[in-house]
Amino acid sequence: RLTNWDSFIAELNGIETIQDPNQVAKLSQDYYTFSPVLVPQLTGKVGDLVVRPANEAEVVQVAAVCAKYRVPVTIRGAGTGNYGQCVPLEGGVILDMTRLQGIPWVKPGVVRVEAGVKLAQLDKKTREIGWEIRMAPSTYRTATIGGFIAGGSGGIGSITYGQLRDRGNLLAVRVVTLEEEPRVLELRGDDVQKVNHAYGTNGIITELEIPLGPAYPWVEAIAAFPDFMSSAHFGQALGDADGLIKKLISLHADPIPTYFTALRPYIPEGSHIALLIVAEGSLEGVQALVKEYGGTITYTKSAQDAGKGFNLAEFTWNHTTLHARNVDPNLTYLQSLFPPEKDLATLEHMYHHFGDEVMMHVEFLRMGGRAVPAALQVIRFTTEERLNEIIRYHEERGIFIPNPHTYILEDGGRKAIDPVQLAFKQEVDPYGLLNPGKMRAWLEREV
Ligand code: FAD
Repeated sequence: RLTNWDSFIAELNGIETIQDPNQVAKLSQDYYTFSPVLVPQLTGKVGDLVVRPANEAEVVQVAAVCAKYRVPVTIRGAGTGNYGQCVPLEGGVILDMTRLQGIPWVKPGVVRVEAGVKLAQLDKKTREIGWEIRMAPSTYRTATIGGFIAGGSGGIGSITYGQLRDRGNLLAVRVVTLEEEPRVLELRGDDVQKVNHAYGTNGIITELEIPLGPAYPWVEAIAAFPDFMSSAHFGQALGDADGLIKKLISLHADPIPTYFTALRPYIPEGSHIALLIVAEGSLEGVQALVKEYGGTITYTKSAQDAGKGFNLAEFTWNHTTLHARNVDPNLTYLQSLFPPEKDLATLEHMYHHFGDEVMMHVEFLRMGGRAVPAALQVIRFTTEERLNEIIRYHEERGIFIPNPHTYILEDGGRKAIDPVQLAFKQEVDPYGLLNPGKMRAWLEREV
């Protein structure tokens, strides 16, 4: 491990750095604290130096110096990842990408953007011509587009457009390699999968081309239901309703809504709720559907009022866990993908089986052309063994668990070693310096 950084810094030729140990420690963190399993594994892991390039040419310069000194590099966007993706396991440089702020062009349906642009900022820009990003995590106000592609999976919008991994949701990426003489590569078409969701182990993303969807005037609504399964069948029906345009169907079984302090005036006691974002023109149809399933709309916010008061999106996806943990820090979460079933039998079984220990939070998303319930259940944590038992019980019933309690790429969502990503890593990061310790395929490769 490099102990004297003077000549390293000198070779950066004035590129901005942060050396203050407190700030470096802060920028070595992300939201792995949601996981009581990751906390003991990652606490105290810090980088040595933060480097903040302002453009691609500076990224190339940093990559060259890091390769020369064989210094590990952990790339960082906004640091809102949940699995310790941004935590440096072997010290080294924290490469802060947030100064890459350009949006070279926007045209109907596509935008070209630099990696450090925040999603909300990007959305604001594309809305000027009537388009918006297809999906965003609930952290859209702070998260960067580079971090979303490298570390995220989907979110608000996924009910229509599926997940980031689906072909067509990422059109091109430009990456800088980690070599003494770094190359800048543009990957298009299926080649983008070499870098998509690779936790920054496969090149430094500097620019991306992202597809857009039409920007509707969106209405936010809360629907309350007397029982959870009515809300679930409503959610499935709305997901399947081709004529109703929507961007969010988020279900919360009682008592989860009690954690949403700001929403309390709109939630009848003991009710189960659906948080919805639908196109203004679809609202009447949605109201009729809510009624059909025995629910009541208790709150709406019109498109003109967007930006005023609270944003419903910030109570969904992993913001649900955030609000729950603000009330009770012993709570954690799980991620699940339920099998597609018209009668939602597996979801119903799981809703009843664990009772209050596993509280049901469902996000519908589109997968293979159909609306499927995914879940980020809120869990009353006791021990890691019990958590694993809960995970096993789900898996035995055909529920896919992208485990959020691991920082290893393949042990989370991917599950299998990806030979294409491994081959690409060998090409772009021959010394294994990019986010070391996160890719199992690299750790276990035959040399
Ligand atoms: P970071 O956390 O900074 O980085 C994530 C990963 O990407 C790291 O491995 C990093 O090394 C790598 N990386 C960052 N920039 C680059 C780059 N330029 N080149 C190469 N690699 C890079 N995620 C979802 O998918 N959907 C959600 O709805 C969602 N909701 C969330 C809610 C809360 C409350 C929290 C705390 C997290 C949530 N997340 C969600 C996780 C996370 O916020 C998102 O995935 C977000 O898009 C990450 O962006 P970021 O800029 O913070 O990335």
